[in-house]
Amino acid sequence: EVTSEELVRGYLDRADALKRLNVFVHLDPENVLDQARAVDAKRKAGEAVGPLAGVPVAIKDVLCVEKEPTTCGSRMLKDFRPPYDATVIVKLRQAGAILFGKTNMDEFAMGSSTENSAYGPTLNPWDEARVPGGSSGGSAAAVAADLAPLSLGSDTGGSIRQPAAVCGVVGIKPTYGRVSRYGLIAFASSLDQIGPFTHDLADAALLLKVISGRDERDATSVDQPVPDYSATLDEKPRSLRIGVAREFFGEGLDPEVESAVREAMRVYEQAGATLKEVSLPNSKYGVPAYYIVAPAECSSNLARYDGTIFGHRAEDWSPKHPGEEDLHPLVRMMMASRAEGFGAEVKRRIMLGTFALSAGYADQYYNQALKVRRLIRNDFDAAFKDVDVILGPTSPSPAFKLGERTADPLAMYLSDIYTITANLAGIPGLSVPCGLTRSGLPIGLQLLAPAFAEENLLRTARVFE
Ligand code: GLN
Repeated sequence: EVTSEELVRGYLDRADALKRLNVFVHLDPENVLDQARAVDAKRKAGEAVGPLAGVPVAIKDVLCVEKEPTTCGSRMLKDFRPPYDATVIVKLRQAGAILFGKTNMDEFAMGSSTENSAYGPTLNPWDEARVPGGSSGGSAAAVAADLAPLSLGSDTGGSIRQPAAVCGVVGIKPTYGRVSRYGLIAFASSLDQIGPFTHDLADAALLLKVISGRDERDATSVDQPVPDYSATLDEKPRSLRIGVAREFFGEGLDPEVESAVREAMRVYEQAGATLKEVSLPNSKYGVPAYYIVAPAECSSNLARYDGTIFGHRAEDWSPKHPGEEDLHPLVRMMMASRAEGFGAEVKRRIMLGTFALSAGYADQYYNQALKVRRLIRNDFDAAFKDVDVILGPTSPSPAFKLGERTADPLAMYLSDIYTITANLAGIPGLSVPCGLTRSGLPIGLQLLAPAFAEENLLRTARVFE
């Protein structure tokens, strides 16, 4: 029998051999080995070990791990070591998991390619000239390249599902409130959820159960029993009414992705599913509404990083531009610190969000976006009266080339056209591999379900797996 120590040594060697993928921003072999030895000692002493005993889990660098670097892919937090664990980290430790390094990500989870990281991009293990998706690209690539069997990411507009799709792994964005966000560094608090990346659905069911549940430290976490997802995974779904939304097959969808998804529909029909057309007419406003709501919340959440208590502090804040000598030195310190600490995309979002919330404009932008959000939610409520899940592509295209979309933020934003509406509506979504392009790139199938129907989502995906 292999010990946990032997197992993690194998993974550490592999991480070393695949350093060029730039998956980990922080991996401390001694710390990993210590955790593994502790599990081995417990086993030897006959003590109870948890359901993930000795299993390495790679952690997106947006999650606080006590005393470990937690940088959010940003220069702003390059020296931050949180004094506490996120709730999901506490739960992983209780389950016996080995926290296996922190993974690369777009700065503050803003992006779809992991190219917005201050630590350089992660490469897609399937084709190293391509992106792994984002913002949780490091966590998706970690599982795809088998640098860890499991990982955690966060999804605000698609950041688990889209990288899962383009890296050929399973990814789940749970219902808003299913998993505690305590210790998740906030991007857009009303949209953010933590979720698993895994090789298959059995692993996903197990990891989702471990991290789910009400937490007193997150008032938005919901007090709903956590089902034993593993126990019910192999049950046939009670009913298999699958919705197909015209809006998920529009312009911009890659033909190879479309044909793989249509093939998946045939597989479901053969399995006895009824396919039904549903309509989500307000989906087309998803991206515009998201790019008001998410930047608005980000501008508020990121206000704390000004070099006083949180974040990088500039060394030089002497006046540089005309008029700056009149500013209070503390203000100049904050300005210089934020100018140095944040990257271009984060600054763009802060400016957009500040504008959208400002007096005189909030009614035109922010409040309008909230109304659209409600309409999108209503569309899903109506559709789920007739169907159990909604099926479609996860991402409009397979992994794109590094650099291809960096000069065009709008092209980057459209990567999430099919995933964003689930975050706006708060419903769960899952991406499962459904084929390869002719050139051998993975394609993901997205399944969406009503709030707290993760059990059914997993079972329905299982039919296809
Ligand atoms: N790509 C989207 C954005 O840049 C979503 C990111 C996410 O889900 N964290 O905001």
